[in-house]
Amino acid sequence: MSDKKQNKRNNNKNYDDDYNPRFRKQRKKVCVLCSDKNFVLDYKNPEQLKKFINERGKILPRRNTGTCAKHQRDITIAVKRARHIAVLPYAQD
Ligand SMILES: [Zn+2]
Repeated sequence: MSDKKQNKRNNNKNYDDDYNPRFRKQRKKVCVLCSDKNFVLDYKNPEQLKKFINERGKILPRRNTGTCAKHQRDITIAVKRARHIAVLPYAQD
């Protein structure tokens, strides 16, 4: 019984070393607008802007989309303009 318990603890330790989500290898997200030179942000194009909002219509933070600070500012302006002309919703549900 005690052997089994000890074994289980060791297994857990190995599991933590390899797969602990807190120390998961971070994949470097690259800004979509920086990587694609031909990408022109258009506030009249809802399909394009939908990538940067969630299902409730909120603008996604930079940590989720991986956009750089400069382009995140452009995106927020574009999304707000799109909402104003009723291309995108202010809120859903
Ligand atoms: Zn960028």
